[in-house]
Amino acid sequence: MSSNRTKIINVISNNNDASKNTARLLIYKLSSKGFHIPKSYDNKAELNICIGGDGAFLRTVHKYNFPNIPFVGINTGHLGFFQEILPENIDEFIDKYIRGDYSIEEIFLVRANIYTKDKHFQILGVNEIVIKGIKSKVVHLEVFINDNHLEKFSGDGIIISTPVGSTGYNFSSGGSIIYPSLKALQITPLSPISSRVYRSLLNSTIVPGDIPITIEPEYRYENSILVVVDGMELKYDNISKIDFAIAEKTISRLNFDKNMYWNNLKSKFL
Ligand code: NAP
Repeated sequence: MSSNRTKIINVISNNNDASKNTARLLIYKLSSKGFHIPKSYDNKAELNICIGGDGAFLRTVHKYNFPNIPFVGINTGHLGFFQEILPENIDEFIDKYIRGDYSIEEIFLVRANIYTKDKHFQILGVNEIVIKGIKSKVVHLEVFINDNHLEKFSGDGIIISTPVGSTGYNFSSGGSIIYPSLKALQITPLSPISSRVYRSLLNSTIVPGDIPITIEPEYRYENSILVVVDGMELKYDNISKIDFAIAEKTISRLNFDKNMYWNNLKSKFL
């Protein structure tokens, strides 16, 4: 939690009816316990409550630029891997929150430094950053770990996933699940080609978060590389190199149940 309890809580909801109804109820209940819920996002808040699914959580984190204020999520009918609270448990959540009956979990982010011919950009991702081809073309990427050449990848693309993102796109693409407290990044291939012509690793590689991963695209078509961060496409002209590592910046979320992660895995994926 932020060091000073301001009694201000941001309630951020997506536009679904279920989320809007939950937001109204939550605001009523929090207000009756003496919390102030501002009409627009307040940087002095002690807590961000995000209502919706994981997509809503990801969009909120990006929209408010990876705030230091901790998050808690209320899941309204989505997969909701990030979203711990169910709408029917709002009273229990508020009581536990007021009692301080929770722990704070740090969420590691992936940071990419993108170098083009004459510019440098830095981006952060919660789940992952994907390097893929535009127009469904095969991409050819030189991959280095700590400046050591690992492979020349050919295929649809490469996912660089965080521990919390490991249950997202990474998991659907055959990557492993990484417990969120492990400071590591996972390099997961998307439809890697392994033939007499191209030799790409077929499985993912897990790298300590402080060891840089570098990708250098080989261009066969001009500007054919696409960067996708947490589902949002970004385009840059003539990327020469991208360096990835776990970011120094982190975000955080409240955890009300130490078994939540394992229960979530079982109930949402099996
Ligand atoms: P989206 O519709 O917002 O999300 C796609 C699905 O992924 C939703 O069911 C979402 O849960 C779930 N999800 C998101 N983050 C997750 C996580 N960390 N663990 C488990 N499930 C997670 O799709 P989008 O806007 O294109 O991209 C958002 C995220 O979706 C990406 O960061 C990526 O991880 C994931 N994605 C997955 C695939 C795939 O599996 N083939 C493809 C593209 C993107 P909710 O229903 O609760 O929102």
